[in-house]
Amino acid sequence: MARFGMVIDTTRCVGCMDCVVACKTENEVPQGYCRDWIVEEARGAFPDLQLEIRSERCNHCDNPPCVWCCPTGASHVSDFGKLVQIDKEVCIGCKACLAACPYDARYIHPDGYADKCTFCEHRIKDGLDPACVAVCPTHCMHFGDLDDPDSEVSRLILSRRHHTLLAAAGTKPRIYFLT
Ligand code: SF4
Ligand code: SF4
Repeated sequence: MARFGMVIDTTRCVGCMDCVVACKTENEVPQGYCRDWIVEEARGAFPDLQLEIRSERCNHCDNPPCVWCCPTGASHVSDFGKLVQIDKEVCIGCKACLAACPYDARYIHPDGYADKCTFCEHRIKDGLDPACVAVCPTHCMHFGDLDDPDSEVSRLILSRRHHTLLAAAGTKPRIYFLT
């Protein structure tokens, strides 16, 4: 069974926000909320400074505190791709998962349930890339099976310098940023 993840090349990202717009359109994200966003961070030490531009979203963590804390089981690890998903019919909007996520990846939808990136599960079940990956004009995002050693994502992680976000939090995020 696949374990899906993402590899994002920060050296190619220009911060155009096409991924953010594509996600909002594809997933009908309500006005004022977002499932993905752009972060600009100065990294390194003077005079070796680099401006890293990152497209961020839920990391579909291997050790997801948002799932472990959910009192109803609405937040769960799905059989398909071991993705962290939310069953909106079961969610009671208690916000425990919002507090548990160190990446601020979730919000409460105006209809009362927790919401976040799904890696466009409806698209990847049809063999398509997530909308953000599909529209990126610099092709800086890659999606695939981290457990397949021959996948593009696995090969990029092996061959390129990379980091994950807040690795010390112990959540084992599944989005890798190439530097
Ligand atoms: Fe949960 Fe946050 Fe990790 Fe997504 S990024 S799986 S919401 S802890
Ligand atoms: Fe679970 Fe919903 Fe509460 Fe989040 S808001 S912890 S998904 S019941």
